[in-house]
Amino acid sequence: MGPGPANANPRVLAAQAMPLLGHMHPPFFKIMDEIQAGLRYVFQTSSEYTCLISGTGHAGMEACITNLLEPGETIVIGDKGIWGARAADMAGRFGVNVVDLKKEAGKTFTIAELEAALKEHKPAVLFLCQGDSSTGVHQNLAGLGELCHAHGALLLVDTVCSLGGVPFFADAWGIDAMYSGSQKVLGAPPGAAPLFFSERALKKLRERKTKPMSYNWDLNLIGDYWGWFGSRSYHHTGMVSMWYAMREALQIMGEVGLEGMWARHKRLHEDMWKGLTAMGLEPFVANPADRLVTVNTIKVPEGVDWLALNKFAMDTYNVELAGGLGPTLGRVWRVGIMGYNATPANVELVLTSFREGLKAQGKLKA
Ligand code: PMP
Repeated sequence: MGPGPANANPRVLAAQAMPLLGHMHPPFFKIMDEIQAGLRYVFQTSSEYTCLISGTGHAGMEACITNLLEPGETIVIGDKGIWGARAADMAGRFGVNVVDLKKEAGKTFTIAELEAALKEHKPAVLFLCQGDSSTGVHQNLAGLGELCHAHGALLLVDTVCSLGGVPFFADAWGIDAMYSGSQKVLGAPPGAAPLFFSERALKKLRERKTKPMSYNWDLNLIGDYWGWFGSRSYHHTGMVSMWYAMREALQIMGEVGLEGMWARHKRLHEDMWKGLTAMGLEPFVANPADRLVTVNTIKVPEGVDWLALNKFAMDTYNVELAGGLGPTLGRVWRVGIMGYNATPANVELVLTSFREGLKAQGKLKA
């Protein structure tokens, strides 16, 4: 019940144990096609340009940045937690001009702030993290694609800890590129980064003057393995077992349905906060509309030892809770409600861990 990896669905783990297929054999291409159909559904896009990057969320981040930008171009980073800071670090390494648009931890960017940055810096790309797992903030994305396009920029979004747990509409919101992670709401082990490019983003890639600086993440080559350009060629060995896992994870998303997933995560987030509030605990994110339902940040009260409470939860109930990360370190607990772990029983276990953990420190009377 930390910010991930969450427990994987046993169906996904069973799929991963199936015998290997050749990564360039037609039956495996069929599996890749089915994965892409599932990705189109969870991304809510009709774009042909979807794939799994062989790596975790960071690999997806690096793939998007190195393919979307050429050295000397500008990226504006919406920096409101550690993910913006990492994207800025990566872009700088690729010779991209980085504009670090900082925001206090726990807050989101307004459309007016982003519009001002687009006008001033005229970037090729705007980066935003939808669900910031370091702060528990949910950045609203509706309308931002149109805004970026009006200023000649592409919109790149991190959905590693939010995809599947909160609404996301790649096409309707005009998103140009997005990467995610397998080990959070999607309920698979870490090791695959779902990725999406719009037509606009693909055009930018195809018209580059320079090759993407990473061979490993070159989407001209990876796309050609995933059939983006009408053929299939070998770039690297597809992660056969991991792809089986993702096919099953996406199948489960389809069975439950996105609306069902979003509603379940929201309901459990609300139920958990009812219980936490009754114990006198407070959310780190002041504005309820900005609170991420998949990763919840809970303020550590004065005089409470957060690490001791986490240890108590693990030792007593086998429940993993996490402390803060980056700007929230020592200030919050982070509790994940994600995918296979998003059940009323697990939320109840989290509440029991906090109740008894606080009592053990003499910080809760009742
Ligand atoms: N972005 C966000 C929002 C994340 O929560 C994470 C993982 N915690 C990452 C990126 C990086 O993903 P990974 O650890 O899978 O590389």
